[in-house]
Amino acid sequence: MDLDTFRKSLDDWLDGHADELAPAYPGHGTVELQVEQIAKVRHLTHDAGWARWGWPGQVGGLGGSGLLRAYLSEALSSRDLVESGLYSMPEVLGPSFITFARPELSAAMVPPLLRGDEVWCQGFSEPGTGSNLGMLTCRAARAEDGWRVTGQKVWTSLAQMADRCVLLARTGTLESAHRGITALFVDMATPGISVRPLDTMHGEPEFCEVFFDDVPVPFARTIGEEGQGWAFAMDLLPYERSTALWQRAAFLHRRLQQLVEAAPPGALDPTALGEVAQLVHAFRARSRATQHRLAAGEDLGSVTSIDKVALATVEQAVFDLAEETLPDEVLLAGGPGPERWRKEFLYSRAATIYGGSAEIQRNIIARRLLELGNDR
Ligand SMILES: Cc1cc2nc3c(=O)[nH]c(=O)nc-3n(C[C@H](O)[C@H](O)[C@H](O)COP(=O)(O)OP(=O)(O)OC[C@H]3O[C@@H](n4cnc5c(N)ncnc54)[C@H](O)[C@@H]3O)c2cc1C
Repeated sequence: MDLDTFRKSLDDWLDGHADELAPAYPGHGTVELQVEQIAKVRHLTHDAGWARWGWPGQVGGLGGSGLLRAYLSEALSSRDLVESGLYSMPEVLGPSFITFARPELSAAMVPPLLRGDEVWCQGFSEPGTGSNLGMLTCRAARAEDGWRVTGQKVWTSLAQMADRCVLLARTGTLESAHRGITALFVDMATPGISVRPLDTMHGEPEFCEVFFDDVPVPFARTIGEEGQGWAFAMDLLPYERSTALWQRAAFLHRRLQQLVEAAPPGALDPTALGEVAQLVHAFRARSRATQHRLAAGEDLGSVTSIDKVALATVEQAVFDLAEETLPDEVLLAGGPGPERWRKEFLYSRAATIYGGSAEIQRNIIARRLLELGNDR
């Protein structure tokens, strides 16, 4: 299906099913409610075929350009039907999983993810290694019948609700750095895994500490080959900094429009509004170009660090403007409004951290793209 036809037919379908798709809660909602809402929207859009376009046939998709699924996520985010960050998880984990996992594994596991029957989480960061991912220490030791995983992950989004975890573990020595890392696909119900939710600054337990105590993982659940975990992570991170951010751009565009509508007379500084509108537009243009390069089969790599820096700048600019314009709603807990502005303002502070911190992205841009020297 071509993009224009898809866009038109999807918009009609979304209009026709607006009541069924609408969230059952006002305002921001809790993380649990947001995840339930996402599952409902995934079921409906998958069963009607929309959420299968842009994914390959081997995982139950209907094929076609990745732009089709980018438009679906844009349409859902800009109608406030899903929380764009949480909704983006299949875009972050799915493409690299399909590339690296054995075809039987991806054929069995990806369809329930796309249909919203399962939640997956991304077990990369550890207490000692977030930016310095290559030094991770969560260990997978070889046993006769499979791996045994022992260690800890942290900031693992939605781990408390997840059915599976895409986990990076050390299978070589620490000295072997990124060469000794292997990616594993772990069932979260396996004995030996314990999950402790952590509240973010906006008051929701969006992420968790995850502890692994001698957790058995079959060899058949290795994603790619032993020692390929770093290549897997390097393939995956550009998705986290590209398609996932296109949805975020749609969300920010919508919030800026809503801010204009919600502003009391005279409260919105027109110069500041113009500057933020320009930033949002520039980011959408950048992100759109990234989507087109991705759809054309380009290997994006480090250039997506530019998208990530731009997203963080724009997200914080939109909500800084919201704070100036609607100070009571943003600054006062229990203040007027449905807490949406307040929670989203607080969450926007995380934009310079999640998906790779702003400092690290700037280092990548300086060193890998502008060739301004290495780390030493
Ligand atoms: C909302 C949210 C959701 C997340 N979800 C997940 C998830 O699902 N799965 C997951 O694995 N992780 C997740 N993360 C973790 C995220 O990827 C890390 O927080 C991030 O990569 C930074 O790592 P860190 O927290 O260990 O900070 P550190 O790496 O300890 O960095 C601390 C500070 O030092 C700076 N810094 C570090 N090294 C350098 C350097 N060489 N040069 C300049 N500055 C440097 C950083 O920029 C940062 O400001 C999430 C984080 C957030 C905020």
